[in-house]
Amino acid sequence: MFEDNQNEKVTIQIVPETEEDVFTLKIAKKWIKFAVYFIIISLVLITGILSYYYYQFNAARREIRFLVPYKQKVENLREKNDYLQSKLSKLSNKTEEIKEQFNQIKKENHKIKEMIDFKNKDDLSSKTDAKSRDSSTTASNKLAESQTVAQTAHSVASGVLINATKQNLSSLNKGITQRKKDLSTLKQEVIDYKDYLSSKPKGWPILGHKGRITSGYGYRFHPVEKKRIFHEGIDIGVWYNHKVIATGQAKVVFSGWKSGYGRAVVLDHGYGYRTLYGHNNKLLVRTGEVVKRGEPIALSGNSGRSTGPHVHYEVLVNGHHTNPKQFF
Ligand SMILES: [Zn+2]
Repeated sequence: MFEDNQNEKVTIQIVPETEEDVFTLKIAKKWIKFAVYFIIISLVLITGILSYYYYQFNAARREIRFLVPYKQKVENLREKNDYLQSKLSKLSNKTEEIKEQFNQIKKENHKIKEMIDFKNKDDLSSKTDAKSRDSSTTASNKLAESQTVAQTAHSVASGVLINATKQNLSSLNKGITQRKKDLSTLKQEVIDYKDYLSSKPKGWPILGHKGRITSGYGYRFHPVEKKRIFHEGIDIGVWYNHKVIATGQAKVVFSGWKSGYGRAVVLDHGYGYRTLYGHNNKLLVRTGEVVKRGEPIALSGNSGRSTGPHVHYEVLVNGHHTNPKQFF
């Protein structure tokens, strides 16, 4: 039945209101049907596509609206990150500076130690000194290593920089603890050194630098013995009752009559030093007393085996006589 109508035609006439010709259009019914279907399908398709894009558009707009505040946040974070980066860089530089100053302090510390290294090199104190020097050399190497790391880090990532700075700070922390110990040792050594300096014989044994050397240290013709013998000290010609003084902080280990030396005083200064003052007229100290440098211990005279008023002055180092001249 439908097939029958396929070739039927529809006539469309357009009649203008003027007297022009009537426009007649003859179209087969099947084409009209096709056109109608085509239009319907097209409308459906277009509506579908438009709806889809409208939905997509709305979704995108919602997303953008949602993301806008984040954009600001990201920018803020970026600024903050830049700021922290520069801070980190400054911190790293500061750490390097501190490390440099720290090494300087370490060097000074060792210099001072060497300056006051007045004891024998093979004693216990210098051993511990060497030990601490070794450990600080290791620490110094570690610092140098981390410095190289830190320098490379500047051109790499901030993560590496952070690690390097951490390492530096950790090394510095350890180093500071060691330096504190070193300083404490150094302080004690300075105290010891001060004591050593005030104890070691130094200067002229008569107050006001009175008198002059009349007989030196060494072999000489003895005026009393009348033969060549070794003179174990020096003779300072000085009149009676001049103040004979201690040449360093010491303990009086002898004060009395000593064969040949007359009224004599022997002082023990510690550190292996002893001094002897002979031929005095009067003794001013007793055995066991502690005297300071410059303190009067006797009055000069002519006691014992002597040909005239003078002070016989001896300096002994570890029991051996030495020339007192080198201690003036
Ligand atoms: Zn003498």
